[in-house]
Amino acid sequence: MISRREFLETVAAAAAFPAPDRPQAQAPGNEWGSPVFDLHFHVRQQPAANLAHLDGAGVTKANLLTRGAVLDQVKALEAAAPGRFTWFNSYDVTKPDAESALTQSIKQGAQGFGEMKFHVAADGPELRRIYALAADLRVPILIHFQEVDHFPNEGTWATGYAKTFESILKAYPKTTFIGHADAFWANISADYHNEAAYPAGPITRGGLTDKLLGDYPNLFGDLAANSGNNALSRDEAFTADFLQRHQDKLFFGSDCSCTDGHGGGISQSNNPAASRLAGKCVARETLTVLKRTTPPQLFQKLVWGNIHKLLRIPA
Ligand SMILES: [Zn+2]
Ligand SMILES: [Zn+2]
Repeated sequence: MISRREFLETVAAAAAFPAPDRPQAQAPGNEWGSPVFDLHFHVRQQPAANLAHLDGAGVTKANLLTRGAVLDQVKALEAAAPGRFTWFNSYDVTKPDAESALTQSIKQGAQGFGEMKFHVAADGPELRRIYALAADLRVPILIHFQEVDHFPNEGTWATGYAKTFESILKAYPKTTFIGHADAFWANISADYHNEAAYPAGPITRGGLTDKLLGDYPNLFGDLAANSGNNALSRDEAFTADFLQRHQDKLFFGSDCSCTDGHGGGISQSNNPAASRLAGKCVARETLTVLKRTTPPQLFQKLVWGNIHKLLRIPA
Protein backbone atom coordinates (compact mmCIF):
# COMPACT_ATOMS: atom_id res chain seq x y z
CA MET A 1 0.00 0.00 0.00
CA ILE A 2 1.19 3.53 -0.66
CA SER A 3 0.07 6.59 1.24
CA ARG A 4 -2.34 9.08 -0.26
CA ARG A 5 0.40 11.68 -0.40
CA GLU A 6 2.82 9.37 -2.23
CA PHE A 7 0.01 8.48 -4.58
CA LEU A 8 -0.72 12.15 -5.39
CA GLU A 9 2.96 12.86 -5.96
CA THR A 10 3.30 9.92 -8.34
CA VAL A 11 0.21 10.98 -10.26
CA ALA A 12 1.44 14.56 -10.52
CA ALA A 13 4.84 13.37 -11.74
CA ALA A 14 3.25 11.13 -14.34
CA ALA A 15 1.10 13.96 -15.63
CA ALA A 16 4.07 16.33 -15.86
CA PHE A 17 6.46 13.88 -17.55
CA PRO A 18 4.89 11.76 -20.27
CA ALA A 19 6.49 8.37 -20.82
CA PRO A 20 9.36 8.73 -23.32
CA ASP A 21 8.39 5.66 -25.39
CA ARG A 22 4.98 7.09 -26.22
CA PRO A 23 4.32 8.66 -29.65
CA GLN A 24 4.33 12.35 -28.72
CA ALA A 25 2.71 13.92 -31.76
CA GLN A 26 -0.56 12.12 -31.10
CA ALA A 27 -3.25 14.10 -29.29
CA PRO A 28 -5.50 11.51 -27.62
CA GLY A 29 -8.25 10.45 -29.99
CA ASN A 30 -6.73 11.63 -33.26
CA GLU A 31 -5.22 8.28 -34.04
CA TRP A 32 -8.68 6.68 -34.40
CA GLY A 33 -10.34 9.55 -36.26
CA SER A 34 -12.58 10.10 -33.24
CA PRO A 35 -12.05 10.63 -29.57
CA VAL A 36 -12.43 7.33 -27.72
CA PHE A 37 -14.09 6.55 -24.38
CA ASP A 38 -13.22 3.20 -22.77
CA LEU A 39 -16.23 2.08 -20.71
CA HIS A 40 -14.39 -0.87 -19.17
CA PHE A 41 -11.13 0.16 -17.56
CA HIS A 42 -10.07 -1.48 -14.29
CA VAL A 43 -8.17 0.99 -12.15
CA ARG A 44 -4.46 0.20 -11.76
CA GLN A 45 -2.51 0.29 -8.53
CA GLN A 46 0.28 2.46 -9.88
CA PRO A 47 -1.34 5.80 -10.74
CA ALA A 48 0.82 6.57 -13.78
CA ALA A 49 -0.07 3.17 -15.23
CA ASN A 50 -3.64 4.34 -15.83
CA LEU A 51 -2.61 7.24 -18.04
CA ALA A 52 0.07 5.14 -19.74
CA HIS A 53 -2.62 2.76 -21.03
CA LEU A 54 -5.00 5.50 -22.15
CA ASP A 55 -2.31 7.50 -23.93
CA GLY A 56 -0.64 4.43 -25.41
CA ALA A 57 -3.87 3.14 -26.92
CA GLY A 58 -5.06 6.56 -28.14
CA VAL A 59 -7.92 6.67 -25.64
CA THR A 60 -9.24 10.05 -24.52
CA LYS A 61 -11.40 9.08 -21.56
CA ALA A 62 -12.00 5.99 -19.46
CA ASN A 63 -14.57 4.76 -17.00
CA LEU A 64 -12.77 3.43 -13.92
CA LEU A 65 -14.10 0.16 -12.57
CA THR A 66 -13.28 -0.32 -8.89
CA ARG A 67 -14.40 -2.30 -5.87
CA GLY A 68 -14.83 -1.22 -2.26
CA ALA A 69 -13.39 1.89 -0.63
CA VAL A 70 -11.39 3.65 -3.33
CA LEU A 71 -12.52 7.26 -3.16
CA ASP A 72 -9.04 8.72 -2.53
CA GLN A 73 -7.55 6.82 -5.43
CA VAL A 74 -10.31 7.92 -7.82
CA LYS A 75 -10.22 11.56 -6.70
CA ALA A 76 -6.44 11.70 -7.12
CA LEU A 77 -6.65 10.37 -10.67
CA GLU A 78 -9.43 12.79 -11.55
CA ALA A 79 -7.35 15.63 -10.16
CA ALA A 80 -4.26 14.55 -12.11
CA ALA A 81 -6.13 14.23 -15.40
CA PRO A 82 -9.24 16.41 -15.20
CA GLY A 83 -12.10 15.32 -17.43
CA ARG A 84 -10.50 12.03 -18.46
CA PHE A 85 -12.12 9.67 -15.97
CA THR A 86 -15.59 8.66 -14.91
CA TRP A 87 -16.20 6.00 -12.28
CA PHE A 88 -18.30 2.91 -11.53
CA ASN A 89 -17.92 1.14 -8.20
CA SER A 90 -18.84 -2.39 -7.11
CA TYR A 91 -19.19 -4.13 -3.78
CA ASP A 92 -19.61 -7.73 -2.67
CA VAL A 93 -23.32 -8.37 -3.28
CA THR A 94 -23.39 -11.24 -0.79
CA LYS A 95 -22.67 -8.82 2.09
CA PRO A 96 -25.64 -7.38 3.98
CA ASP A 97 -24.36 -3.80 3.61
CA ALA A 98 -24.02 -3.95 -0.19
CA GLU A 99 -26.90 -1.56 -0.81
CA SER A 100 -25.68 1.08 1.63
CA ALA A 101 -22.09 0.83 0.41
CA LEU A 102 -23.12 1.19 -3.23
CA THR A 103 -25.46 4.07 -2.43
CA GLN A 104 -22.59 5.79 -0.65
CA SER A 105 -20.38 5.40 -3.76
CA ILE A 106 -22.98 7.12 -5.91
CA LYS A 107 -23.19 9.98 -3.40
CA GLN A 108 -19.40 10.24 -3.64
CA GLY A 109 -19.50 10.62 -7.40
CA ALA A 110 -19.66 7.14 -8.93
CA GLN A 111 -21.97 7.08 -11.95
CA GLY A 112 -22.79 3.39 -12.07
CA PHE A 113 -22.41 -0.05 -10.51
CA GLY A 114 -19.69 -2.25 -11.92
CA GLU A 115 -18.10 -4.40 -12.66
CA MET A 116 -20.56 -6.70 -10.86
CA LYS A 117 -18.69 -10.04 -11.02
CA PHE A 118 -19.81 -12.45 -8.33
CA HIS A 119 -20.50 -16.15 -7.84
CA VAL A 120 -24.26 -15.75 -7.63
CA ALA A 121 -27.21 -16.39 -9.92
CA ALA A 122 -28.19 -13.60 -12.31
CA ASP A 123 -31.75 -13.91 -11.01
CA GLY A 124 -30.83 -14.54 -7.36
CA PRO A 125 -31.74 -12.36 -4.38
CA GLU A 126 -28.23 -10.89 -4.02
CA LEU A 127 -28.31 -9.23 -7.43
CA ARG A 128 -32.05 -8.55 -7.54
CA ARG A 129 -31.83 -6.00 -4.75
CA ILE A 130 -28.97 -4.28 -6.59
CA TYR A 131 -31.01 -4.17 -9.82
CA ALA A 132 -33.77 -2.42 -7.86
CA LEU A 133 -31.27 -0.03 -6.27
CA ALA A 134 -29.79 0.86 -9.66
CA ALA A 135 -33.27 1.84 -10.86
CA ASP A 136 -33.92 3.91 -7.72
CA LEU A 137 -30.63 5.77 -8.10
CA ARG A 138 -30.94 5.98 -11.92
CA VAL A 139 -27.49 4.52 -12.55
CA PRO A 140 -26.48 1.73 -14.94
CA ILE A 141 -25.27 -1.67 -13.75
CA LEU A 142 -22.49 -3.52 -15.61
CA ILE A 143 -22.60 -7.31 -15.17
CA HIS A 144 -20.06 -10.06 -15.92
CA PHE A 145 -21.87 -13.21 -17.14
CA GLN A 146 -19.76 -16.37 -17.33
CA GLU A 147 -20.68 -20.07 -17.27
CA VAL A 148 -17.45 -21.73 -18.48
CA ASP A 149 -14.22 -21.79 -16.42
CA HIS A 150 -11.05 -20.17 -17.76
CA PHE A 151 -9.00 -21.85 -15.02
CA PRO A 152 -9.78 -25.13 -13.21
CA ASN A 153 -12.38 -24.53 -10.48
CA GLU A 154 -12.73 -20.85 -11.25
CA GLY A 155 -16.47 -21.03 -10.77
CA THR A 156 -19.24 -19.23 -12.62
CA TRP A 157 -20.39 -15.63 -12.45
CA ALA A 158 -23.93 -14.18 -12.58
CA THR A 159 -25.15 -17.53 -13.81
CA GLY A 160 -28.23 -18.38 -15.82
CA TYR A 161 -27.97 -15.61 -18.41
CA ALA A 162 -29.41 -17.68 -21.25
CA LYS A 163 -32.19 -19.19 -19.17
CA THR A 164 -33.31 -16.44 -16.85
CA PHE A 165 -32.04 -13.03 -17.80
CA GLU A 166 -34.99 -12.15 -20.01
CA SER A 167 -37.24 -12.48 -16.96
CA ILE A 168 -34.99 -9.98 -15.15
CA LEU A 169 -35.20 -7.51 -18.03
CA LYS A 170 -38.99 -7.77 -17.78
CA ALA A 171 -39.06 -7.52 -13.98
CA TYR A 172 -36.80 -4.44 -13.81
CA PRO A 173 -37.83 -2.22 -16.75
CA LYS A 174 -36.40 0.91 -15.11
CA THR A 175 -32.95 -0.60 -14.57
CA THR A 176 -30.29 0.14 -17.19
CA PHE A 177 -28.41 -3.16 -17.66
CA ILE A 178 -25.06 -3.40 -19.44
CA GLY A 179 -24.18 -6.97 -20.42
CA HIS A 180 -20.57 -8.09 -20.60
CA ALA A 181 -18.34 -11.17 -20.72
CA ASP A 182 -18.36 -14.71 -22.04
CA ALA A 183 -21.98 -15.81 -21.74
CA PHE A 184 -23.36 -12.49 -22.92
CA TRP A 185 -21.25 -12.49 -26.10
CA ALA A 186 -21.22 -16.23 -26.84
CA ASN A 187 -25.03 -16.05 -26.95
CA ILE A 188 -24.81 -13.70 -29.91
CA SER A 189 -25.02 -16.92 -31.95
CA ALA A 190 -28.18 -19.04 -31.89
CA ASP A 191 -26.21 -22.31 -31.85
CA TYR A 192 -24.50 -21.71 -28.49
CA HIS A 193 -25.10 -24.02 -25.52
CA ASN A 194 -22.30 -23.25 -23.02
CA GLU A 195 -19.74 -25.50 -24.77
CA ALA A 196 -16.81 -23.05 -24.82
CA ALA A 197 -15.95 -19.76 -23.20
CA TYR A 198 -15.22 -18.19 -26.58
CA PRO A 199 -16.86 -20.04 -29.47
CA ALA A 200 -15.30 -19.60 -32.91
CA GLY A 201 -16.65 -19.69 -36.44
CA PRO A 202 -19.53 -18.06 -38.29
CA ILE A 203 -22.48 -16.78 -36.25
CA THR A 204 -25.91 -18.38 -36.54
CA ARG A 205 -28.42 -15.55 -36.78
CA GLY A 206 -31.13 -15.14 -34.18
CA GLY A 207 -28.93 -15.48 -31.10
CA LEU A 208 -30.33 -14.60 -27.70
CA THR A 209 -28.18 -11.52 -27.06
CA ASP A 210 -29.04 -10.09 -30.48
CA LYS A 211 -32.74 -10.66 -29.73
CA LEU A 212 -32.64 -9.20 -26.21
CA LEU A 213 -30.80 -6.08 -27.41
CA GLY A 214 -33.53 -5.62 -29.99
CA ASP A 215 -36.47 -6.32 -27.68
CA TYR A 216 -35.52 -4.60 -24.43
CA PRO A 217 -34.76 -0.87 -24.25
CA ASN A 218 -33.18 -1.41 -20.81
CA LEU A 219 -30.41 -3.70 -22.11
CA PHE A 220 -27.09 -2.44 -23.48
CA GLY A 221 -23.85 -4.22 -24.43
CA ASP A 222 -20.23 -3.63 -23.43
CA LEU A 223 -17.89 -4.71 -26.25
CA ALA A 224 -14.90 -5.14 -23.91
CA ALA A 225 -12.52 -8.01 -23.31
CA ASN A 226 -11.70 -11.08 -25.36
CA SER A 227 -15.41 -12.01 -25.19
CA GLY A 228 -16.51 -8.85 -27.01
CA ASN A 229 -13.57 -8.86 -29.40
CA ASN A 230 -14.11 -12.53 -30.23
CA ALA A 231 -17.80 -11.96 -30.94
CA LEU A 232 -16.96 -9.09 -33.31
CA SER A 233 -14.19 -11.04 -35.03
CA ARG A 234 -15.99 -14.31 -35.87
CA ASP A 235 -18.05 -13.21 -38.81
CA GLU A 236 -17.48 -9.68 -40.06
CA ALA A 237 -20.50 -9.62 -42.36
CA PHE A 238 -22.62 -10.36 -39.31
CA THR A 239 -20.66 -7.81 -37.25
CA ALA A 240 -21.35 -4.94 -39.65
CA ASP A 241 -25.11 -5.62 -39.54
CA PHE A 242 -25.13 -6.21 -35.80
CA LEU A 243 -23.36 -2.91 -35.04
CA GLN A 244 -25.70 -1.06 -37.38
CA ARG A 245 -28.79 -2.71 -35.86
CA HIS A 246 -27.85 -1.94 -32.25
CA GLN A 247 -25.95 1.27 -32.86
CA ASP A 248 -27.56 3.06 -29.90
CA LYS A 249 -27.08 0.15 -27.48
CA LEU A 250 -23.37 -0.70 -27.65
CA PHE A 251 -20.29 0.78 -26.02
CA PHE A 252 -16.59 0.38 -26.71
CA GLY A 253 -14.65 -0.96 -23.72
CA SER A 254 -11.26 -2.64 -23.42
CA ASP A 255 -10.93 -4.58 -20.14
CA CYS A 256 -7.30 -4.63 -21.26
CA SER A 257 -4.58 -5.27 -18.71
CA CYS A 258 -1.61 -4.57 -20.99
CA THR A 259 0.82 -2.00 -19.64
CA ASP A 260 1.34 0.43 -22.47
CA GLY A 261 -1.62 0.40 -24.84
CA HIS A 262 0.49 -1.59 -27.32
CA GLY A 263 0.21 -5.10 -25.87
CA GLY A 264 3.10 -4.92 -23.40
CA GLY A 265 2.86 -7.04 -20.26
CA ILE A 266 -0.19 -9.29 -20.04
CA SER A 267 -3.32 -8.23 -21.90
CA GLN A 268 -5.91 -10.73 -20.66
CA SER A 269 -4.72 -11.52 -17.13
CA ASN A 270 -3.10 -14.83 -18.20
CA ASN A 271 -6.47 -16.27 -19.20
CA PRO A 272 -5.40 -19.32 -21.26
CA ALA A 273 -8.71 -19.34 -23.13
CA ALA A 274 -8.01 -15.81 -24.38
CA SER A 275 -4.56 -16.55 -25.84
CA ARG A 276 -5.67 -15.19 -29.21
CA LEU A 277 -5.05 -11.73 -27.71
CA ALA A 278 -1.71 -12.51 -26.03
CA GLY A 279 0.80 -9.76 -26.73
CA LYS A 280 -1.90 -7.50 -28.11
CA CYS A 281 -3.71 -4.52 -26.65
CA VAL A 282 -7.41 -5.41 -26.43
CA ALA A 283 -8.34 -1.74 -26.82
CA ARG A 284 -6.39 -1.46 -30.07
CA GLU A 285 -7.65 -4.78 -31.41
CA THR A 286 -11.30 -3.95 -30.75
CA LEU A 287 -11.04 -0.38 -32.05
CA THR A 288 -9.46 -1.82 -35.22
CA VAL A 289 -12.35 -4.26 -35.77
CA LEU A 290 -14.92 -1.54 -35.09
CA LYS A 291 -13.19 0.84 -37.47
CA ARG A 292 -13.13 -1.79 -40.23
CA THR A 293 -16.80 -2.72 -39.87
CA THR A 294 -18.50 0.67 -39.41
CA PRO A 295 -18.83 3.98 -41.25
CA PRO A 296 -17.17 6.91 -39.39
CA GLN A 297 -20.35 8.30 -37.80
CA LEU A 298 -21.34 4.94 -36.40
CA PHE A 299 -17.80 4.33 -35.13
CA GLN A 300 -17.95 7.63 -33.27
CA LYS A 301 -21.25 6.68 -31.61
CA LEU A 302 -19.89 3.34 -30.41
CA VAL A 303 -16.60 4.67 -29.09
CA TRP A 304 -17.67 8.07 -27.82
CA GLY A 305 -21.23 9.37 -28.18
CA ASN A 306 -23.19 6.47 -26.68
CA ILE A 307 -21.20 6.41 -23.46
CA HIS A 308 -21.79 10.12 -22.88
CA LYS A 309 -25.52 9.59 -23.42
CA LEU A 310 -25.55 6.66 -21.02
CA LEU A 311 -23.88 8.74 -18.32
CA ARG A 312 -25.89 11.87 -19.23
CA ILE A 313 -22.77 13.98 -19.66
CA PRO A 314 -21.92 16.29 -22.61
CA ALA A 315 -19.74 14.74 -25.33
ZN1 LIG B 1 -15.51 -8.97 -16.62
ZN1 LIG C 1 -4.01 -2.57 -23.76
